[in-house]
Amino acid sequence: MRKEYDSARAAARGAAVDDLSLDVRPGEVLVLVGPSGCGKSTTLRMANRLVEPTSGRILLEGEDVTHVDAVALRRRVGYVIQHVGLFPHRTVAQNVATVPRLVGWDRKRTASRVDELLALVGLEPARYARRYPHELSGGERQRVGVARALATDPPVLLMDEPFGAVDPVGRRRLQAEFARIQREVGTTVMLVTHDIDEAVRMADRVAVLSRGAHIEQLASPLDIVAR
Ligand code: ADP
Ligand code: ADP
Repeated sequence: MRKEYDSARAAARGAAVDDLSLDVRPGEVLVLVGPSGCGKSTTLRMANRLVEPTSGRILLEGEDVTHVDAVALRRRVGYVIQHVGLFPHRTVAQNVATVPRLVGWDRKRTASRVDELLALVGLEPARYARRYPHELSGGERQRVGVARALATDPPVLLMDEPFGAVDPVGRRRLQAEFARIQREVGTTVMLVTHDIDEAVRMADRVAVLSRGAHIEQLASPLDIVAR
């Protein structure tokens, strides 16, 4: 894949991502690491077409999704970022219910899914469903973000520095819990981080991007420790 951003400054720098080919296996956690500006976020955002590739193809479960409706694609590819951007005037339950309601699930089905998801991410529904985002800690908000992203059972979840805004102790806990969730749900994950410790902790495989995004894929996170 290749991505050139349109602005004059971006053009002067050359392609943000160039000659990149990345294969993520079903059910694995692939972590992208590399120096700031090397194209990690761009790569991730091409996978749900928040960034449209300049050239190249995106295959999802064998299907070419390079030109399908991007909104429909995003139901199949969940996305979690550092500040998850919950709707501030909607409760935790309403936030998690956003996409199910949008795609026309009835209230009963939605409500039971919301409860299930909150329990999955470790937020007891009876305590958390009616709270508003500002009544939550940073770590709790990230959990809601994960629950919301998982609401329609996407086969793929993209995570861009998902725990970057959480304090170190909370981050450890979230990483461990997320690993459990990921095993339980079986979602395929692409995760961007600049935290090598997080990469080692979470990855089944690590892809190292260098500038211009030439890529080296490492079989195991232990390889980065060895280097
Ligand atoms: P990373 O996630 O590894 O820090 P990014 O994918 O964010 O890298 O950025 C890769 C390159 O693309 C950088 O040079 C960055 O400045 C540029 N870039 C990222 N987003 C945009 C954008 N929306 N418009 C123009 N250039 C961008
Ligand atoms: P809207 O009017 O925007 O649809 P609702 O108040 O109906 O907002 O909430 C959206 C969805 O959130 C509901 O359909 C329901 O499934 C879910 N929801 C709301 N409150 C709760 C709750 N306390 N527990 C579980 N799910 C809830």
